[in-house]
Amino acid sequence: MTLSIRPDIARMAPYTPVKPFETLSREMHRPPEQIVKLDANENPYGPSPKVREALASYPWYHIYPDPQQTELREALSRYVGVPAEFILPGHGADELIDYLCRIMLEPGDVVINCPPTFGMYDFDARLSMGEVINAPRDAAFRVDVAAIEAAVEQAQGRAKLLFLTSPNNPDGGLLAPETLKRLLSLPLLVVVDEAYIEFADASSVASWVPETPNLAVLRTFSKWAGLAGLRLGYGVFPLPFMNALWKFKQPYNVNVAATIAGIASLDDLELLRQRVLALKKERERLLRALQTISYLEPLPSQANFVLCRVMGRSARALHQALFDQGILVRYYDKPGLSNFIRISAGLPEHTDQLLDALREWA
Ligand SMILES: *Cc1c(COP(=O)(O)O)cnc(C)c1O
Repeated sequence: MTLSIRPDIARMAPYTPVKPFETLSREMHRPPEQIVKLDANENPYGPSPKVREALASYPWYHIYPDPQQTELREALSRYVGVPAEFILPGHGADELIDYLCRIMLEPGDVVINCPPTFGMYDFDARLSMGEVINAPRDAAFRVDVAAIEAAVEQAQGRAKLLFLTSPNNPDGGLLAPETLKRLLSLPLLVVVDEAYIEFADASSVASWVPETPNLAVLRTFSKWAGLAGLRLGYGVFPLPFMNALWKFKQPYNVNVAATIAGIASLDDLELLRQRVLALKKERERLLRALQTISYLEPLPSQANFVLCRVMGRSARALHQALFDQGILVRYYDKPGLSNFIRISAGLPEHTDQLLDALREWA
């Protein structure tokens, strides 16, 4: 008897996720309150107090969730401004990236990716036996339309998905609407990941979806609403994709805790928007302060983080020096992103601690 795992999966490198407080606390020998966690763009204010109340008083955790997510989808419809029939919640936006790859790709079909960007598109494409063709961004992290068009050409009719991120992770730059319009003329599904759109001075393109047969938009509660641990995202999809996704999805993919948390968040928008504003202000303060540090070259951002090129010194050593003081930032050393760190906007006292450490290291 031979029990064989798919060879492509056996060969695959694992995804390296960020670590939660429980693990970090043990590894760093520090209580969570003494860890300044600026490495995963999480919301330091946490969920709305209404979320905690709703979770504490919910009476039916022993009953399966609504597979249609009717109440949550109605609330999302009001929030996004698109009819509920176009909206599908997921166990994080990440789950929807996986679903899209699985409903769209046959083995050898092509996903066009625009690195440097979020790692899950490449990962999920490969999990679904897709082939990834990279159309790298330019030095200013802008999408290279000609490179994308050339990649579609190269794929010879096998390009099925194009992933774009706006604001992009890790630089925080927006996708220009004219650029998106041009890319929508390509014969593939364009997926715009708007995980950070609440932090941007730009509007979502979700409202384009009902009129655009090849545009999907992904959103999440993880960043602006502080629900990263509860896992709740959603997508806005043209109806033919909705039909396929309804058949395809795991019936109970969104658990009741996430559903309750999402509905309660959408019922407390005023408070959550104040917190988003506070984080945007903190991002701007962080950016201005980083500009005064000689060995850093920070980039302006429309998200809740700031990407910095580290000049004339090792970003890896900087990452380690901060880690030793209980401060976590994201460190990168890969093509198009060599010797960079990304810092999330946190509480003002987090920024202050980080800035002290950065100045000291100088
Ligand atoms: C954080 C992030 C996500 C993850 O969303 P979840 O809802 O937590 O799965 C998706 N896309 C981008 C670009 C992100 O940075």
